[in-house]
Amino acid sequence: MDSLICGLIIGTVFYLSSHAGSKDHISIKSIIGSCFALLLYVVYDFVIKPILYSIILRKRRLLYFEDYLKDNGFIYPIYQLNEKVINIYATGVLDSSKKILVGKDLLELADIDTLHGLIWHELGHLKNNHLCKVFIINSICTLLYFILWFKLGPKIYSSPCAPLFVALLGGFLGVVMVIIPEYFRKKYEIQADQFAAQNFGKNNYAGVLNKLNEMTNGGVEKGNVYYPTLKERLAAISN
Ligand SMILES: [Zn+2]
Repeated sequence: MDSLICGLIIGTVFYLSSHAGSKDHISIKSIIGSCFALLLYVVYDFVIKPILYSIILRKRRLLYFEDYLKDNGFIYPIYQLNEKVINIYATGVLDSSKKILVGKDLLELADIDTLHGLIWHELGHLKNNHLCKVFIINSICTLLYFILWFKLGPKIYSSPCAPLFVALLGGFLGVVMVIIPEYFRKKYEIQADQFAAQNFGKNNYAGVLNKLNEMTNGGVEKGNVYYPTLKERLAAISN
């Protein structure tokens, strides 16, 4: 489903880009169309998909964990994902669509304490409105990417120093599309960890991160573009 929608949108972007007019004349319709198609994907991913989950996963509510949250004063639906992943996610930009999704493998492998700790982390994302913030950041970056590309691209292609300018523009667009979202996503991961540590206990939550690292064969230790390393995460909760 995701790849189908993503493919359709990328196809539209390519179609509109290839009909963007000559070097001297860029069609406003193409710019708006391409922006709209990419923004549509961001909206699908952050707004529509979380609502669809309520329908697709309606028979997979994890009531035991919902009661655990309720006992702690929070009401959010928790669902089991069909995917066999050792991971857990918070999703939903709108308050009414906020929910927590637990990977099938994580549910089978993790003990109750680890799952409680990870649920606190996801709750940190929901209570701090991280999804809404990431949605806004991604939308702004997407718009900025297109405005810069369509505005500067044709001028650069016709310049005698085209390769240099293309490299500079490419580098700058990389900052817009990768480094800015990456910075915020990592910052929000740390905030969610700190929320979990405050509510679940520093030592307990440090234990949860270490267990997740073991279950993922060192996956947490390495981190990735959106996740700080285990060392950084443990340091952030020890302060
Ligand atoms: Zn997180």
